[in-house]
Amino acid sequence: YYFCPHNHNDPAMHTYWRLLSFARPIRKYAIPYFFYTLFYTIFYTFTFTLIQPILQTLFSAHAATKPVTTFPKFVFDTSFLQDSISYLIYKVFGADYDTMDVLIFLSIFVILTSLLSNLFRYLGQRTMEAMRIRALQRLRNDVFTNVMGLHAGYFSNERKGDIISKISSDVQVVQFCITNTLLVAFRDPFQIIGFMIALVVTSWQLTIFSILFLPIVALVIGSIVKRLRKSATQVQERFADMVSLMDESLSGIKILKGYNAVDYTVGKFKKINALFSRISLSMAWRQQLASPVSEFLGIAAAAVLMIYGGSLVLSGELAASAFIMYLAIFTQITRPLRSFTDAFANINQGIAAGERVLALLDEKSEITDAPDAVEMTGLKRDIEFRDVRFSYDNKEVIRGVSFKIKKGETVALVGPSGGGKSTLSDLIPRFYDVQSGQILIDGIDIRKYTLESLRRYMGLVSQETILFNDTIENNLRLGKQDATEEEVRQAAIVANADAFIRETEHGYQTNIGDRGMKLSGGQRQRLSIARAVLKNPEILILDEATSALDTESEKLVQNALDALLQGRTSLVIAHRLSTIYNADRIIVIDHGQIVEQGTHHELMALHGVYARLIEMQQSGDSNGR
Ligand code: ADP
Repeated sequence: YYFCPHNHNDPAMHTYWRLLSFARPIRKYAIPYFFYTLFYTIFYTFTFTLIQPILQTLFSAHAATKPVTTFPKFVFDTSFLQDSISYLIYKVFGADYDTMDVLIFLSIFVILTSLLSNLFRYLGQRTMEAMRIRALQRLRNDVFTNVMGLHAGYFSNERKGDIISKISSDVQVVQFCITNTLLVAFRDPFQIIGFMIALVVTSWQLTIFSILFLPIVALVIGSIVKRLRKSATQVQERFADMVSLMDESLSGIKILKGYNAVDYTVGKFKKINALFSRISLSMAWRQQLASPVSEFLGIAAAAVLMIYGGSLVLSGELAASAFIMYLAIFTQITRPLRSFTDAFANINQGIAAGERVLALLDEKSEITDAPDAVEMTGLKRDIEFRDVRFSYDNKEVIRGVSFKIKKGETVALVGPSGGGKSTLSDLIPRFYDVQSGQILIDGIDIRKYTLESLRRYMGLVSQETILFNDTIENNLRLGKQDATEEEVRQAAIVANADAFIRETEHGYQTNIGDRGMKLSGGQRQRLSIARAVLKNPEILILDEATSALDTESEKLVQNALDALLQGRTSLVIAHRLSTIYNADRIIVIDHGQIVEQGTHHELMALHGVYARLIEMQQSGDSNGR
């Protein structure tokens, strides 16, 4: 128990077993590994025990030793080993053998056993590598899948960098847990037992003596292990900070350059990096202490043994050759002992990382299907908001909103920014759930539909046109993976995108770069409109872009939008005056409530919030263009 700092009720132990379960089926790896290691150990130990007969042969070359002519009676002692080898030599070379022949024979023997032991060692390592890599593969898949399934709200509270760091580097660290410990748990005990047997057979007195030293080695390393434990979490936390900063900086590179804030950001990075490196260094130093300390203690123990063993040799109780072999094996036994303790020193780091990864895996989506959820089969009558209330954390942003969108209607949401328009539109695809009140589609609460079917009938066009680093065609296909090339093209034509797509280098197969950076703002908007056209949703949720385009692009985008809205039921967060004029109904939202609603003319006649907004926008428009 010196080596294992956890007991079985420990949450760390629980984490350990869970992480291990990713290496399933463990049998597939553990059983071959067990046998490979067993053979490795046998041959490895055997290689070392050949030291004695070799030495014996050399030492006794000139002494008149009687050859062993009958198979020796078994005794649990080195003399048995020695006599059996002598017997084997007698059998092979006869009574009057040449020492050189015997040496060559023994050396060939050593080469063979060493070859076999290393072959089995390699096979064992291969098995372990397969297990390690497969387990990490499965873990990464599971974590990423789970994260992608989480509710939208989760991502406004968590930093992207944290999540990325957990899926990438923490998962990498977990391998200390999964494989290194298994590796040594199967290998090292064998080796220790194998060597122990060899030691006891050679000299039980010396072995009892040396056993007294092993706990001391273990104790010292155990105390180093404890101190290692603390800094492990800090290192990963600082690493996550670094990833976050890199992510933010690279995404915002233009702004940072534009504001001449690159130096500031680089300074910030250097600071975080310095902190990270300092903690890593102090941890690395501590970790590195384990090996020299145990090495030193191993040698020190061997030196003490030398005195005691030497006295046994001098008093004639132990052959000098046996003693030399004993020392050779003794120094070898510290190696598995050391890797054993090292692996369990690293386990803490692995478990710390594993806990973070598993926390991500255990995170449950707050928005899920009700147990009795039904399939939505399309919009038949209307979408109704009934006294809807919603808050982010404790800040109420929607305060009792009720309205209806009839099938085929276009409803425009307008109002000052921060009023709650985006939040309202996020409630329909259930990115967030209402806190009180209801949203009904054809009279049924949307929480009664399966999420998949609910979203199947919706198309989203957001303000930031979200495009992915992929080909144009794949970006368009997002909502309809099985669309034919012709369908994709038709959608692009409707969205006024076909012409510019054909002008790009590889047409529909052109890669548009990270976030569509290789395209103009208007082109990006038309692509995201084409994407919605291709999905052909019954319900459209459109958040119009606010960024002004040049007149030419504006017209193209406007036409595309008109085509998209045609014949659908739409909720539009409208910024363009033309979209607002064309809406069937306009709802003015301010401070989370409906303050006015009606058609453009009705609202203008009210001379209220809407009239003021329109006036502002018109003067803004004439100034801006
Ligand atoms: P609009 O679309 O009308 O500009 P929003 O729906 O975006 O308004 O925002 C309404 C209010 O909710 C604002 O005060 C905003 O600060 C707040 N808000 C928006 N998103 C979040 C969020 N993820 N977490 C906390 N508060 C938010």
